[in-house]
Amino acid sequence: VTSDGTRLGRVADETRSEEGPAAVVERCIQALRGARDLAAAVASDLVGVGISSPGPVDPFRGIVVDPPNLGAAFHDVALAPLVGDALGLPAALDRDTNVAALGEWTFGVARGCSDFLYVTVSTGIGGAVVSGGRLLRGPDGTAGELGHTTVDLDGPVCGCGARGHLEAISSGRALARDARAAVDDGRSPFLSARAAQRPDVDARAVADGEAAGDETCRDLMVEARRAFAAAVVSWVDLFDPELIVVGGSIAEHQGDRLLDPARAAVERHAFRAPASRVRIVTPGLGPDVSLAGAHPLVMSRLHGPVSETVGTALVGHSVPA
Ligand SMILES: [Zn+2]
Repeated sequence: VTSDGTRLGRVADETRSEEGPAAVVERCIQALRGARDLAAAVASDLVGVGISSPGPVDPFRGIVVDPPNLGAAFHDVALAPLVGDALGLPAALDRDTNVAALGEWTFGVARGCSDFLYVTVSTGIGGAVVSGGRLLRGPDGTAGELGHTTVDLDGPVCGCGARGHLEAISSGRALARDARAAVDDGRSPFLSARAAQRPDVDARAVADGEAAGDETCRDLMVEARRAFAAAVVSWVDLFDPELIVVGGSIAEHQGDRLLDPARAAVERHAFRAPASRVRIVTPGLGPDVSLAGAHPLVMSRLHGPVSETVGTALVGHSVPA
């Protein structure tokens, strides 16, 4: 990836986490060597490797801590040091949502913003916070987990173990869980019919059910949107952001059906000044947002915070490694 966000080489492979961390790290290294070969003309200008990983991660030491979706073997995997040593380049690693936020900040809709939130509503709900021109990391690098905002004290238990988090109500995983429960107790004709066709009913099935007029599916989607709107009101009051960028597969599919209730709730319930300032928008970059974000991630590690490097170090990129 060059300083204007152009990709010179792209190699994709499956994670296959069931083969264990060593195999996954080796596949990452092979993919990177492949990408370097594709960009052979500039190979000597490469200054670093940026890694976007499922959280939680320790971005300061480049370690993948224990992401729930990769299995128990993934515990304290030193991904950035291993990759960096193999490639002979400095390697910087951060949580996928933080890297995506850096991508939108540098190349996407958040260009020029010093206060914005990045949220992804997908299988899970992830987030990143840029405040006062700095990516908010906290001493452990875990700050900005917006999906773990409590929206219902008596709500369902979240994947993290706490109760009533936004992710436990509005995420794809939560909707799939509710869809399976609705099939089990026969309360949704649409989902029962869908389950008879294929065994795994998912969030998409719930959205399809709402569109087809199924009452249970409609209730689930309305509740998911209400919970999201309530969380957004809290974020506006907490962070006073100029922009809230909402990405992820569910947000992409739902569009304004998800964003409009949040906009209306902010108008009604958030503090007046931030409510009139904030804009709730869809992302500027596509699914490769983390590839774009890898560039500012590396540059910020080499030269200091992004706010100080945007428009300076990002212009030229012949920086010695
Ligand atoms: Zn949680």
